[in-house]
Amino acid sequence: MKIAVLPGDGIGKEIVSETLRVLGRLALKFEFEEAPVGGAGYEASGHPLPPATLALAKKADAILFGSVGDPKYDSLESSKRPEQAILGLRKELGLFANLRPAQVYPELADASTLRPEVIAGLDILIVRELTGDIYFGQPKGIRQHESGGREGFDTMRYTEAEIRRIARVAFDAARKRGKKVCSVDKANVLETSRLWREVVDAEAKGYPDIAISHMYVDNCAMQLVRNPKQFDVIVTGNMFGDILSDEASMLTGSIGMLPSASLDANNKGLYEPIHGSAPDIAGKCIANPLATILSAALMLRHSLGQAAAAERLEAAVKKTLRDGYRTADIYTAGTRKVSTVEMASAVAERL
Ligand code: NAD
Repeated sequence: MKIAVLPGDGIGKEIVSETLRVLGRLALKFEFEEAPVGGAGYEASGHPLPPATLALAKKADAILFGSVGDPKYDSLESSKRPEQAILGLRKELGLFANLRPAQVYPELADASTLRPEVIAGLDILIVRELTGDIYFGQPKGIRQHESGGREGFDTMRYTEAEIRRIARVAFDAARKRGKKVCSVDKANVLETSRLWREVVDAEAKGYPDIAISHMYVDNCAMQLVRNPKQFDVIVTGNMFGDILSDEASMLTGSIGMLPSASLDANNKGLYEPIHGSAPDIAGKCIANPLATILSAALMLRHSLGQAAAAERLEAAVKKTLRDGYRTADIYTAGTRKVSTVEMASAVAERL
């Protein structure tokens, strides 16, 4: 199993090296090959996604990604910024389906800012389209406007085929879960969303066992906080999914807990925590490595055909939480505050 390891910047390096250490405890044969990406890629070769890194990602069976970005690159032109690396990988590898499970572990019900009864037992899956929408629309840029001032311009766009394939991913996922899909859009305002809704409804006809509903994104943002347990699978576009999944992360207590999988049409995937490079805590060894460790579990399940190993890894994470280990972001009184390395060691021991 060839894994391209792209730690990136900031806490990316800390959490990925700890995740590799945990994976090393599994009786499986991995071939890990590491390459620079993001700010590290820019430093190494003047580009956030160096050609050698892209080539490695293309030939690997799966990609384990940390996070990219640092304020020191904020003044770079847009194509050189670290964040371009992840957009480039998604586009180049056709990683159109982003799966973001948000589960509340009973032990962490207190770590959320919401009341325990609102979130206890929560288990939702956000399926976010990843290679279309306003993030990839043309033309893009800041230009002179006829009124005299400047104008920012981005285009929201989706094709029927793009909507259809992400809808299928959501319906297939719902079949293995609670059999409900809520499609989120802004069809009261946007043409793109009206097409989205029509295509999702047409696709739903092929899944009579799945209950389909539609919701406007502003309402969904509100419902996620009011009554998140009403949802099973949420399917939505790139930008709405970006925002809603960060919101959903806080239901679980911390952004440091949420893994993600970005899959192509053949289930080859890139696996990364949903958080960024957290420059505010980088280098302090206090970042929560669990989102990355849980991303590795998704990698075992979706790209490497190792479902049993994925379950063991997830069980080890649950046991670690049950035993009271907490990094600073999920710490509550009466539990044991540990560093990044200590948290990963605790998972490895239980594994
Ligand atoms: P962020 O996710 O890096 O951090 C937001 C907050 O959450 C910070 O307070 C941080 O300390 C905390 N946090 C994040 N991960 C944590 C963890 N594992 N454990 C404990 N606390 C954690 O978001 P941001 O501050 O908006 O962005 C920082 C940089 O990351 C920017 O350059 C941004 O563009 C980039 N970014 C990259 C990705 C990616 O690589 N896929 C995703 C989001 C943001």
